[in-house]
Amino acid sequence: MNIAAKVWRQAELRGSKVAVRSARLDLSYADLRERSSRLAGAVRSAGLEPADRVVLICPTVPEFPVAYYGLAAAGTTVITMNTMSTVPEIEYVLADSGASLVLAWHENAGAARSAAGAAGVPFRELGDGARSDAAPLAEVHEFAQDDTQVILYTSGTTGRPKGAELTARNLDTAATMLLDGFDFRVEDRFATALPLFHVFGQAAVLNSALANGASISLLAPFDAAALLDVIRRDAITLVSGVPTMWTALLQAAREGAPSDFGTLRYATSGGAALPLEVLREFEERFGCQILEGYGLTETCAIATTNDARTTRKPGTVGRPAPGVSIEIRDEANRPARPGTVGEVHVSGPTVMKGYWNRPEATAETKTGGWLRTGDLGVLDDDGYLTIVDRIKDLIIRGGYNVYPREVEEVLITHPDVVEVAVLGVPDSYYGEEVAAVLALRPGSAVPARELKAWAKDRLAAYKVPRLYHFVDALPKGSTGKILKRGLDRSALLNVA
Ligand code: ATP
Repeated sequence: MNIAAKVWRQAELRGSKVAVRSARLDLSYADLRERSSRLAGAVRSAGLEPADRVVLICPTVPEFPVAYYGLAAAGTTVITMNTMSTVPEIEYVLADSGASLVLAWHENAGAARSAAGAAGVPFRELGDGARSDAAPLAEVHEFAQDDTQVILYTSGTTGRPKGAELTARNLDTAATMLLDGFDFRVEDRFATALPLFHVFGQAAVLNSALANGASISLLAPFDAAALLDVIRRDAITLVSGVPTMWTALLQAAREGAPSDFGTLRYATSGGAALPLEVLREFEERFGCQILEGYGLTETCAIATTNDARTTRKPGTVGRPAPGVSIEIRDEANRPARPGTVGEVHVSGPTVMKGYWNRPEATAETKTGGWLRTGDLGVLDDDGYLTIVDRIKDLIIRGGYNVYPREVEEVLITHPDVVEVAVLGVPDSYYGEEVAAVLALRPGSAVPARELKAWAKDRLAAYKVPRLYHFVDALPKGSTGKILKRGLDRSALLNVA
């Protein structure tokens, strides 16, 4: 089913209930339907047909769902792009996707307008309130289950970005899973500062909230103290984010921001490994559980979840979501023995159709319905998955495998460490040497040798980082995930 139809149906059921909220604008379900149906009408009267591609560039504001569900209702395939995209990046996506329209939030319109102009693609600005005078489209376009409803470009491990095609079934399943997996209630009030152009915020958070009749408070850009204020102001019950956001919320709470909320039931975490230390401190400080899940753009955000109502296993990413299967394979692509580390493969209703116009890349990534994730993981006897690391981040030091995540988990437990990334740097003797880039608590001057001793007490010698480098904050991607490829490795080599 078209996700827009579900949202419009909620408008019939709930009319004046607030659907989307921000400091600037609240939209009821009726408003959301009215504005998105007019936007759909405008898109159709501009000559766009179902399956035409439209690029949407919009931050985490209430106008995002107006445009997103409007485009979906009209049957167009929506390509959501990062609001920081440059002109060449947008031009690349326009050429690759053959898009017929670019729609951009007025504050992020510059690059989009230039790229659309250069590519000869019509451009429209999405204004404050996303109002349109066009006649509303009465009926939502019905997608077939395997029709591509959304294309999200991911950089993947190599080459230029590829468009992951997410079908109507992928999106509908991801939005419905919450009903089974998260003890969802229609009275829930969600909050997020995740970018909605990324799969996590879009498919697992926004669609889940609005297809099921809850409300969602949106905040952009992410600011820890502001998010804590939103949680209090809107009596939030469910907050979603990535681990670096939880670390920042803890820091803000330590500095005096509000932290005792009677309403907060759960935090859902994904996108990157959640250090156990952060989980424990968060749960203690904010008095609510963090439910960690795992997924990729290529699995429409969801592959596994920790279910609130059954046994949670902190440190794991939970069990396969309903209908999803997980298999761990060895290097010869055979099922690995239980309890051994191998590459995580996923099959099920959230796995993408393929990469847009890339049959070879699709065949390399998806065979027989199984998606290769590029992640190393291990399943326990109860079927809980632990993500060990990304294959590309694995460090091989003198023939021994070092999983950066294991080393990061140890360093983050040091009281002075706020953020850490462990990576391999070339070494003429060992092949690779283990290095750590760290951000410390403000005012801390803990020397590298103390951190090295901390690691040495807790890890086998070959895993202990030899190189340390201190920064104010680690580079982060659009979702707030630490970007290892954004680290300056040359600075690292200079630190003894
Ligand atoms: P890009 O678009 O640059 O390719 P990306 O590689 O981060 O970004 P995404 O689809 O955004 O791609 O993220 C998926 C990856 O995030 C997974 O392959 C995995 O490595 C990581 N990930 C997601 N959830 C978790 C988790 N709970 N624990 C550990 N890693 C996770």
